[in-house]
Amino acid sequence: MDLELTPEQCLIVSTVRDFVERELYPHEDEVERLDEVPAELASSIRARAIAAGLYAANMPAELGGGGLDAVSVVLAERELGRASYALQMLVERPSNILQACVGEQRERYLLPCIRGERHDCVAMTEPEAGSDVRSMSTTAKRDGADYIINGTKHFISHADVADFVILFAATGSEETSRGPHKPITALLVDRDTPGMSIRRGPPCVSNRGYHQCELTFTDCRVPGTARLGEEGRGLELMGQWLGASRLTVAATSVGRARRVVEAATQWAAGRRQFGQPIGRFQGVGFPLADMATELEAAELLTLRAAARLDHGVMTDADAAMAKVFASEMLGRVTDRTVQIFGGMGLMSELPVERWWRDARVERIWDGTSEIQRHIIARSLLRPYGA
Ligand SMILES: Cc1cc2nc3c(=O)[nH]c(=O)nc-3n(C[C@H](O)[C@H](O)[C@H](O)COP(=O)(O)OP(=O)(O)OC[C@H]3O[C@@H](n4cnc5c(N)ncnc54)[C@H](O)[C@@H]3O)c2cc1C
Repeated sequence: MDLELTPEQCLIVSTVRDFVERELYPHEDEVERLDEVPAELASSIRARAIAAGLYAANMPAELGGGGLDAVSVVLAERELGRASYALQMLVERPSNILQACVGEQRERYLLPCIRGERHDCVAMTEPEAGSDVRSMSTTAKRDGADYIINGTKHFISHADVADFVILFAATGSEETSRGPHKPITALLVDRDTPGMSIRRGPPCVSNRGYHQCELTFTDCRVPGTARLGEEGRGLELMGQWLGASRLTVAATSVGRARRVVEAATQWAAGRRQFGQPIGRFQGVGFPLADMATELEAAELLTLRAAARLDHGVMTDADAAMAKVFASEMLGRVTDRTVQIFGGMGLMSELPVERWWRDARVERIWDGTSEIQRHIIARSLLRPYGA
């Protein structure tokens, strides 16, 4: 693994950083206050991201995307991760799984997403099926050439602004030697499809302005052509991209933590108590040193996993280690930063309390820390047959 960035990668970092500072930072306070990105602002940021060539960075160049390698995607995600989530997500990276679109699906879903004309969301989680996705109870039953969908999904990010849902539903139930097994199928469901309703979920402590929703399906009929990939192979299809999406969480956490460490360091250097900058007290300087060290370690782990992805050798455990370490590092860094800021760390006048709140979700979504540890432990034990 080459630890030096290429000139192209340096350019990506500086271009994205510049965009984030110029186009996103100025709107953070407003989004926080409104718990909303005003529609006009959202369109203008999207248009600027497209003009700057930053949109759909994760998609292949031949389809109109950025065509970046995994290390470059991680670097771009790291820089975007510095900004508030609701804003940075407007520089959209359509769901990777859409690359499985075929024929008409490409024209209807994949390409408009890459052009910024349509927006997707992914609906997997249910009230009774979170980490244990295979236990989902949403069903898609065959009716002639169509599927009839029934069930409820919750915690579905930005479904309120999505044009269609990449839905995961059980298409049957099979008895196997290890008990009942539900084949899960991915389906593309347009927002205005009769039988599907979307309503905003409860307010979340993290990421104001970026909402999660509840989706209800009642005899919702979609044509067989809505199926993404093979019937019963939805989770396997999603699994092909799971590692990349966990690296995104890791990279976002690293980017956010770097911004937070910078702010904590400046505060520790400028805030004086007992006649000297508080950073000179070991009780403040040592936590700062730990924050900076853990941050560098998380970044290296994330970049290493991305480099392995580029070489086609990244394992689930590589991605899980990056996700769990970077997201937990962000939690520690934001918490210590509140402490370094003292009372001001808890006041909404400064972004510190927001960074602390926003950090919390990174340890939960895209697979909780416990699930990541399961993946890592399993890979350690596998060679021993345990
Ligand atoms: C803000 C937000 C946005 C989200 N966006 C989306 C989205 O767009 N699409 C989507 O499909 N989902 C989304 N999710 C869902 C997210 O992926 C789930 O919340 C997550 O997978 C955990 O599921 P759960 O919340 O049901 O917790 P549970 O699975 O009920 O877990 C509860 C606790 O038990 C632990 N636990 C569970 N099983 C085990 C085990 N085997 N061993 C050890 N510990 C275990 C968990 O780690 C956790 O600590 C979102 C969630 C949030 C909070």
